[in-house]
Amino acid sequence: MPDTSGALPPGSTIGILGGGQLGRMLAMAAARLGLKTHIYCPEAGCTAAQVADATTIAAYDDEAALQAFAAAVDVVTYEFENVPTDTAALLARHVPVRPGARALAVAQDRLAEKSFMGNLGIKTAPFADVTGPADLAAALDEIGTPAILKTRRLGYDGKGQARINDKAAAFDAWDAVKHQASILEGFVNFEAEISVIVARGIDGTTAAYDPARNDHENHILSLSTVPSGYSNEIEAKARALAEKIAAELDYVGVMGVELFVVADTQDLVVNEIAPRVHNSGHWTLEGCTVSQFEQHMRAVAGWPLGSPERHSDAQMTNLIGDDVDAWLEMAAEPNTGLHLYGKGDARPGRKMGHITRITPMTTG
Ligand code: AMP
Repeated sequence: MPDTSGALPPGSTIGILGGGQLGRMLAMAAARLGLKTHIYCPEAGCTAAQVADATTIAAYDDEAALQAFAAAVDVVTYEFENVPTDTAALLARHVPVRPGARALAVAQDRLAEKSFMGNLGIKTAPFADVTGPADLAAALDEIGTPAILKTRRLGYDGKGQARINDKAAAFDAWDAVKHQASILEGFVNFEAEISVIVARGIDGTTAAYDPARNDHENHILSLSTVPSGYSNEIEAKARALAEKIAAELDYVGVMGVELFVVADTQDLVVNEIAPRVHNSGHWTLEGCTVSQFEQHMRAVAGWPLGSPERHSDAQMTNLIGDDVDAWLEMAAEPNTGLHLYGKGDARPGRKMGHITRITPMTTG
């Protein structure tokens, strides 16, 4: 039996920083285990608050609110990676914060993240630190074109990025990233993007789900498909990489690891990690007995991890903007899980829900 002597009993309260759909689905999974949730988010009316036991609406630097939150919960976790490190540090003085400060620091900064992978001998795109136009010119000499300039912090869904096809475009790219500290990444000629959702418990046990193959539209995840279509050997390599990263970070919780499969060689290159449940793991709600959301709750509450085995093939489609208008037709589909996030306004680009279609297992 794994050592989970520190397990929080049912009735305990999990504090969650962030109030989006990931927090919402975490709260729903917690409820199934008899755990309570308390959402902390800066915006009123957040979607996670609709299904949580308690909500604090306050800024991430509101020390009094953070202290009251820490006193009201048994453990703190988060549903997005840009929680200020000072917020996490303040909370950690009062209550366990899982995953811990190291995972946050590495995942928040693309330079730290790439350097961390390099130190572990894990492949990434070639990269260089860029603090100004002179660095950028030198980095372009070293890395060549095409390349991608990415802000070190706060980029997501392709935001804070500029592609550079030739050196003449360097100044435009520097303007596009608003002169923020950045890295220049060499272009990876990939044939597919895959991701592994990995969990690690407080006793160091790990459990990795089958990799998903991910397709994007307008830089936003559109489809995740499992099985990925890659061989057992490549899938095992991807899972092993994710487990190694989690162990090295002394991670507790669920993490998403995004990888490129390089064309021709089929080498695996880590693109980025997300220290939280991940959009490309939503399929686990229908495809596995224990979803990524329940797994995260189990890990942060110090419970034994569930099996990551899947029992079905699955394809998850994000419902972006007005895709959600077809909810009634989708609700009538067989073997399909429909998830609507309870958000009001279906603005273009906004994740309004997702749908997972399952079919009997073809491999595995
Ligand atoms: P990111 O925000 O780093 O996940 O990048 C967003 C998307 O841009 C990725 O999902 C890829 O499709 C593409 N991309 C990012 N970095 C690279 C790279 N070094 N080479 C090729 N494509 C990339």
